[in-house]
Amino acid sequence: MNAPTTRHTIPDDTLREVAQQHGTPCWVYDAAAIRGRIERLKKFGVVRYAQKANSNVHVLRLLRELGVVVDAVSLGEIERAVAAGFVGSGEPAGIVYASDILDRTVLQRIAQLKIPVNIGSPQMLEQLAQASPGHAVWLRINPGFGSGFNRKTNTGGEFSKHGIWHENVQECYGLIRRHELQLVGLHMHIGSGADVGHLRRVCDAMVNEVRKCPIDIQAVSAGGGLPATYREGDKELDVGEIFDVWSAARATIEAHLGHPVSLEIEPGRYVVANSGCLVSEVRAKKSVGANQFVLVDAGFNDLMRPSMYGSFHQIEIVPQAGAPARGNVRPTIVGGPLCEAGDLFTQEAGGGIVTQDMPEPEVGDLAVFNDAGAYCASMSSNYNSRTLAPEVLLDGGSRRLIRRRQRMDELLALELSCD
Ligand SMILES: *Cc1c(COP(=O)(O)O)cnc(C)c1O
Repeated sequence: MNAPTTRHTIPDDTLREVAQQHGTPCWVYDAAAIRGRIERLKKFGVVRYAQKANSNVHVLRLLRELGVVVDAVSLGEIERAVAAGFVGSGEPAGIVYASDILDRTVLQRIAQLKIPVNIGSPQMLEQLAQASPGHAVWLRINPGFGSGFNRKTNTGGEFSKHGIWHENVQECYGLIRRHELQLVGLHMHIGSGADVGHLRRVCDAMVNEVRKCPIDIQAVSAGGGLPATYREGDKELDVGEIFDVWSAARATIEAHLGHPVSLEIEPGRYVVANSGCLVSEVRAKKSVGANQFVLVDAGFNDLMRPSMYGSFHQIEIVPQAGAPARGNVRPTIVGGPLCEAGDLFTQEAGGGIVTQDMPEPEVGDLAVFNDAGAYCASMSSNYNSRTLAPEVLLDGGSRRLIRRRQRMDELLALELSCD
């Protein structure tokens, strides 16, 4: 079935009420959509959520209640996980640290909480061994090829900064042994969901690496990269198909090692992308030569993906309560309030400006950016001195503010407190 964007499960009236109560721009998520995704992933023994996709503590709590564990890639993400009730130790560990480096403050916290580290450089092994003898580690391997929808999202191959280059893995095993660190498992994150042919190549590479690994391991991780749906007609991911390919690889690995190994999957986007939307208000519209512009009160400081990657978010017009459905569908360029020409939500990769067909809105209508649950609120910034927008979680009949709007005095305090 072609995926309807999840936003369609949120009634227009609910969006109007949220906008009324909390103001715009505002993020809205649907807990049922998140639960549905976890349900489908449950085949994998361990679902490790990559929280950088959406790291709201309340989203993390929801996921913890569903039996999910998490990744953290910064001190801040560690503290979020702790606040959500995850613990560093355990089997599987509630938190795994997965950045490309270990900075000094993070190193202390990791040692204190015994959070296993997914190793991406030989220096991390040395630094960790010194700070925390016997610490648990995973090895992230770059098998020499990658995938990803553009150069900035490619996580393998010769131009990737992530992981240990496959030719240097043996050297890391040497360091692990010499420093008596504890190797938990091997990890690859190079886009598991692109297509089955690619997936088999990843699995073959993993089996190959396990065969060459001189240390017994307990687990392998398939990484993340499972796709979400953004455009009408995008095909919904078949998780069963991906599981079958990984399951076969695991069987080969278990036969080689002579004992069971656990299989982790590490999705971010797939878990949350289709669960949320960004609600903004139309504040202006104008013709510019042949082009129709609609300007809203959200900017790329809120929703960065179109400006950063040329990503597509379907934009829906929700007329004001009691107003008729808007007609006059036309190609439209949608922009925000930032003093920056690139503050446009209708762009393609490389920065080319494109249009989206939508009915002509009236000022005061809502413009809703669909499928904005992943890499959206978590990528927001304070650029142009704009405060972070609130987040609301819908769950059945309930509606809960899970992040209030940042206040202007909070923004200024960092500077004024230096007076
Ligand atoms: C970002 C990240 C993921 C999740 O990627 P998605 O494309 O959101 O699934 C998984 N693992 C690691 C190590 C990551 O950095």
